[in-house]
Amino acid sequence: MSDIEIARAAKKKPIQEIGEKLGIPWEHLLPFGHDKAKVSEDFIKSLSDRKDGHLVLVTAINPTPAGEGKTTTTVGLGDGLNAIGKTAAVCIREASLGPCFGMKGGAAGGGYAQVVPMEDMNLHFTGDFHAITSAHNLLAAMLDNHIYWGNEQQVDIRRIAYRRVMDMNDRALRQIVCNLGGVANGFPREAGFDITVASEVMAILCLATDLADLERRLGDIIVAYRRDKTPVFCRDIKADGAMTVLLQQAMQPNLVQTLENNPAFVHGGPFANIAHGCNSVVATTTALKLADYVVTEAGFGADLGAEKFMDIKCRKAGLNPEAVVIVATVRAMKMNGGVAKADLGAENVEAVKAGCENLGRHIDNVKKFGVPAVVAINHFVTDTDAEVKAVQEYVATQGTEAVLCKHWAEGSKGTEDLANKVVEIVESGKASYKPLYPDEMPLFEKIETIAKEIYHADEVVADSKVRAQLKEWEDQGYGNLPVCMAKTQYSFTTDPSRRGAPTGHSLPVREVRLSAGAGFVVVVCGEIMTMPGLPKVPSAESICINDDGLIDGLF
Ligand code: ADP
Ligand code: MG
Repeated sequence: MSDIEIARAAKKKPIQEIGEKLGIPWEHLLPFGHDKAKVSEDFIKSLSDRKDGHLVLVTAINPTPAGEGKTTTTVGLGDGLNAIGKTAAVCIREASLGPCFGMKGGAAGGGYAQVVPMEDMNLHFTGDFHAITSAHNLLAAMLDNHIYWGNEQQVDIRRIAYRRVMDMNDRALRQIVCNLGGVANGFPREAGFDITVASEVMAILCLATDLADLERRLGDIIVAYRRDKTPVFCRDIKADGAMTVLLQQAMQPNLVQTLENNPAFVHGGPFANIAHGCNSVVATTTALKLADYVVTEAGFGADLGAEKFMDIKCRKAGLNPEAVVIVATVRAMKMNGGVAKADLGAENVEAVKAGCENLGRHIDNVKKFGVPAVVAINHFVTDTDAEVKAVQEYVATQGTEAVLCKHWAEGSKGTEDLANKVVEIVESGKASYKPLYPDEMPLFEKIETIAKEIYHADEVVADSKVRAQLKEWEDQGYGNLPVCMAKTQYSFTTDPSRRGAPTGHSLPVREVRLSAGAGFVVVVCGEIMTMPGLPKVPSAESICINDDGLIDGLF
């Protein structure tokens, strides 16, 4: 059965019953239909004195075209923890329409480890992304309007730093000329669109702790520079208040359920390259107040996702992760060991062994944050026992354990071992989370620390322009911010074809950008696409409503 067929057959419970599992009173659930609800801001405020549950991060090896299954494992582990008698909630990201109609497929997990309603999750859901798009574009409109009506702030229209956004893969809008058509339409200039998940407003919504913090961060967005190079903030354009109004509903986390009727928070979805790639802080902190265990996912492999989760999200939100699950698959190990995608079906223990060094480095890296790691082998039906054993033997030499997980085929039954292992780690009290670098370290040294400690690069290469820019931001008081690395997810290096665990490489920094509202400095290493295009045959071509009135083709 396909993911969507399994999802459709789910025996969903009314969302109020799911809320009851976490002790959320009915009046504090703001339902969207019968199977989705937002959790009220008032209720969230009332929880502040409660003690937090245990936070578990699910991350992975460097992704390969074989697919790893982080979301699937996050959902499976959440169900597994509930199955062994813990109260557990999962926290994952919302889906973007762009990849959904392009080629990525669903964002709600897979097989028997899914969040439902998957159709809604992959489409408009509770409208958060539309609200973010509107809030973002309100500021863009007000900026051009400000210039039109006399430009009191003396915005240099050659130095506008704020683009427009849309939640669609549309390469036609990457670079455009706007304000064409004469005097009544303003001053023509180059502009462009990014996809909504790349919006700084998205990153802000996901890092803000409450509405006041949201408004302050929105005000801090740098929209342009003046001729004297001083920044013009969103606050100077006076858009922060109205943007907060547009985002008031969207700030409240969404509650849905897994196929096994366990609670799942699905909220926010920032890009994992130019932003930090984690679900919202509000969802995570709320879940921690309500559940014994909270399982959450970070985008891409552990070199990017886990590093940003630890150095940006946990640092800024004061979170204390106690265990990390690194998802690996036999197929991905094989690809890391040099096997082509077409040959993944055949047993190849030697290639699995060779590919394990990628996993080994991630295990080693995660330890640097002071949090114990366990490996989850996400089982595919084609994996052979000998191949699975090869991964387990390798991981044992790295001082941890690889637990075989069959949640995709079996649901929570397939992750009970992993759940028990995670509980054992948490209860051992061995975790002592610490970020990789201190706030006060100079920005360039922060980049060097990540490059050397996590990517195992020898050096960071950056021209004097980049270094001068970082220095300037330090002088302006931004030196305490963490850095947000934008690099290929496929390799520890900036070359996507270099799998395994390369050494001796250098990290070239192309460009740095300040996300002053989100609160990080983006370090661009290589080509980063903030407005994807559709593939030659977009999945939208096969999405339709069938004769029974059901949606086909979403995955
Ligand atoms: P990630 O979060 O790492 O991007 P997902 O969990 O979303 O990955 O999984 C990507 C796709 O792979 C989903 O369509 C899912 O159904 C599929 N998948 C995941 N695990 C398995 C598995 N064990 N067997 C077969 N397909 C799987
Ligand atoms: Mg995922």
